Amino acid sequence: MPSRNAENGLHYFAADYFAARDRFSQLAARQAAWTQRCPIQTPSIGGKELTIDAAYFGAPSPARLVIISSGIHGAEGFAGSAVQQQLVTDLRAMPPLPSSCGLLLIHAINPYGFAHLRRVNENNVDLNRNCLARFPGPANSAYGTFDPLLNPTSSPGRDLFKAKLVWAGIRHGMRAGKRAIASGQYAFAKGLFYGGTKRQESITIFEQLLRRASAENTKQVLHIDLHTGLGRYGHYKLLTDLPEESHELQQLQKWFGADKVITSQTKKTSTYPAFGDIGELTQAVFNHCRVYPATLEFGTYSLWHTLAVLRAENRLHYYGTVDSAAGRKIKADCQETFCPADPKWRLAILERGGKVLRQAIDRGFNRA
Ligand SMILES: [Zn+2]
Repeated sequence: MPSRNAENGLHYFAADYFAARDRFSQLAARQAAWTQRCPIQTPSIGGKELTIDAAYFGAPSPARLVIISSGIHGAEGFAGSAVQQQLVTDLRAMPPLPSSCGLLLIHAINPYGFAHLRRVNENNVDLNRNCLARFPGPANSAYGTFDPLLNPTSSPGRDLFKAKLVWAGIRHGMRAGKRAIASGQYAFAKGLFYGGTKRQESITIFEQLLRRASAENTKQVLHIDLHTGLGRYGHYKLLTDLPEESHELQQLQKWFGADKVITSQTKKTSTYPAFGDIGELTQAVFNHCRVYPATLEFGTYSLWHTLAVLRAENRLHYYGTVDSAAGRKIKADCQETFCPADPKWRLAILERGGKVLRQAIDRGFNRA
């Protein structure tokens, strides 16, 4: 349970990327062993650079490392940043980290998307489909079936998207359709869930930060990547692609609860494996360690609503006018979809997110 008036936590939800970033880095600077600010090569906004910010707490050569990252999906960063800020604040009241442990927080892996209310980066790349060992990415021919429906080449307007999507789901199968659309694709550069043709700068920076925190004696890594937009409103799940019978999956279920940790590698769930997700990169960097990667997803609205908003925002980006009444409405819908303004939702995320991150620190450092 939160140790202070939960209402006070609402201020952790910033109005925009810069406010979130500045608050995170100010809080972290007071107690971190090191911090690092990494600008990305995109045009600044109002003279301010877009940056990925890291803060490291604990031992210089950690045997056990916990990594908590936010904002790989841009606009999803509001909630991720809020729970990271809360964690940094709460660290002061928590017992000191054990002597052989390190905690690495990485804020806003996709600062462009966060600042511009997009899920993707400055090149329309879904960074959580970009962490491949090599390019080109795998073929996903089924995506092509859905491309005309998902990515119309006209400005946003009313159409029968949801009805057409239901019809496509009936024709192709809901589960197969979901997998074809959201697993990632590397052929439609202006489309949704596009993984790019080469590694993106943000991912290179993320990898450098992991290497800075790693040590020869690092044995165990728990990585929680924070997301919103999938699942029941105000609730959470930890999603992973770990094999069903693996030690790592069983350990995650023991640490966080079997009902909370879901793998895509089973026929029993409706989740789907994503190509090139960030957990793959963490596993590659720490290939000499036990690695426990998980995506912490906080639910907001329905999958169909979220997909409709992403589709409208992408059409706006390529064929519409952002600086118009219709454009501002679509951007506001996007922010609401990934970070509802409802205080009940926000307080639930602080409470539940806070609980999971405390569990991550206690279990990841073998403290409880
Ligand atoms: Zn996400």
